[in-house]
Amino acid sequence: MPKPKDRSKKRVYRRTPSGRVKIVTKKARKHVPRCAVCGAMLKGASYSRYARKSERRPERAFGGYLCHKCAEKVILYRTRVKNNDMTLADVPLVLQKYL
Ligand SMILES: [Zn+2]
Repeated sequence: MPKPKDRSKKRVYRRTPSGRVKIVTKKARKHVPRCAVCGAMLKGASYSRYARKSERRPERAFGGYLCHKCAEKVILYRTRVKNNDMTLADVPLVLQKYL
């Protein structure tokens, strides 16, 4: 039985120099929510199991998925394309799928 402190950690099998296989516990990597376009860390998004859904991400368009800068660009391009000031081909390729 693992020690209580090791129960939530990732278990890795390692062969020691004597040939024995030993279970080593590794600290789990913390998941950090990132922007789908630029990869920046998202602010105000934690995805904690104990948080309410409204506490997990910002409640705006693309909240918890795109950062505020990329969301602003998408909304701007969407409006321009809708009003025929721009064509879809003028929008940067990484943002086209969000229009
Ligand atoms: Zn971004």
